[in-house]
Amino acid sequence: MVNIVNPVLKIGIGCPVTPILTWYLLRVNLVFGEYMASVQLRNLIKNYGDTEVVKGINLDIQHGEFIVLLGPSGCGKSTTLRMLAGLEDITDGEICIEHEVINDLHPIERNIAMVFQSYALYPHMTVEENMAFALENLGVDKKTRKRMVAEIAEVLELTPLLDRKPKELSGGQRQRVAMGRAMVRSPDVFLFDEPLSNLDAKLRGQMRSEIKRLHQRIKTTVVYVTHDQVEAMTLADRIAILNGGVIEQIGTPKEIYGRPKNKFVAKFIGTPEMNVLENLGDDVTPFLATSIAQQVPDFNVLSIGIRAQDFHLNACELESDSIGSIKVTLEQVELMGSVKHLTCLFSDQRIVAEVPYRDERTPNEFELYFDINKVHVFDEKDRLITQ
Ligand code: ADP
Ligand code: MG
Repeated sequence: MVNIVNPVLKIGIGCPVTPILTWYLLRVNLVFGEYMASVQLRNLIKNYGDTEVVKGINLDIQHGEFIVLLGPSGCGKSTTLRMLAGLEDITDGEICIEHEVINDLHPIERNIAMVFQSYALYPHMTVEENMAFALENLGVDKKTRKRMVAEIAEVLELTPLLDRKPKELSGGQRQRVAMGRAMVRSPDVFLFDEPLSNLDAKLRGQMRSEIKRLHQRIKTTVVYVTHDQVEAMTLADRIAILNGGVIEQIGTPKEIYGRPKNKFVAKFIGTPEMNVLENLGDDVTPFLATSIAQQVPDFNVLSIGIRAQDFHLNACELESDSIGSIKVTLEQVELMGSVKHLTCLFSDQRIVAEVPYRDERTPNEFELYFDINKVHVFDEKDRLITQ
C-alpha cells in the first residue's frame, strides 16, 4: 500500500504548481492508487454572528477510514464538512491533514473532493466531459484526460455511458458521475454531504452498497454526512454523532448501538426508536428494581432504555438468569413481515416491542420479558450509568 500525502499540499499557497507537475502527481495517484490522509479537527468552532453552530469539535480520522457524521437536521454537519473542504471560514480551532494545519489553504490546495446532495452536473456536457472538466482546468492534455476518465469510468461501471448527457441518465447513474468527477482528481480525502437523499429508497440501498464496495477498493479517507442512521450503521467504520454543534459520541456502529453514551444517542440509533421508561417507581418487577438499585441507590430519578428487539412474550425465550418484566396493555399491532411491532402502554408510557410474527392473537394485557443485562440505565442528566 502506498501512503503518501499529496505533495501539492506540501507546496502550499504562493507556489504555483505547473500543469506538468500536476499531471505527474495525478498520474502517480492513479497508478499507485490508495491515496489517503489522516484528518484532525481540533476544537473546531463556527459562529454565524452571535449564533454558535459548531461548538468545539474534536475528531481524529485515520488513514483510509470511513467516518460518518450523523445527526438531525441543523446540527452543524454540512458546516463542519464545508469548513474541512475550505468552503467556509472557521471561527476558531484547527483543521489538520497529516497533523499539518491547513486552516489557511485554498480549497484546491487541500486535495479534498466533495460530493453534494445536489450533484449539479453540467447539462450541456457528456458524462466524459463532466468527468474531465476538473482535469482540463488543471491543464492536463486531452489524450491523458481521456485515459484517466476511462480508468475511473471502468471502476464506476460508467464506460457505456460516457457519451450520454446527464438528462439521459437515471438518478443513480448521475450520482456515480458526480463521484467520478470527484475521483478523477485522486483526492486524499473524500467528503460526501447527504449524497443519497434525493434518491428513492431502493436506489439508496443500491448506492449505499456501491459506495461501500468502492471504498473497500480505493480505500481513500471518507467523511460522510447523513441524518439517516441506517446509512451510518451500514457504511461507517466509525460514527460521530452530532447534536446541536457538539459530538455526543464517537464509536464503531456496534459500540454506538450496544452502548449509547446518553439518551439522545440511544434514541437516535436503532429502529424502532429505543423505548425509554421514565419515573419507574413501583411499576417494575422487584427483581429489576433490586438489580438497578445495586448500581444506583436512588433509582426513582432514573430512566431505563430497552430496545424493541429485547422484549419477549415468553420468559423461556431468554437465556439469562436475570429476567425482568413489565405488565403492558396492547394498543396496536403492526405486521412488518417476519416480525410484528406491538405498541403497548406501560402505565401511561407508550412502548414498542418487536416480536416474531406468528399468526396468533395477542391478548389485551400481557407481560413483556427482557434480559436485565440488556437494559440501559440513564441518570437524571440523561447519561448512561456504566455498570
Ligand atoms: P446540517 O447540515 O446538520 O443540517 P448545517 O451545518 O447546514 O446543518 O447548519 C447548522 C446551523 O447553522 C443551522 O441552524 C443553520 O440554520 C445555520 N446556518 C447554516 N449556514 C448559515 C449561514 N450562512 N448563516 C447563518 N446561519 C447558518
Ligand atoms: Mg446539511
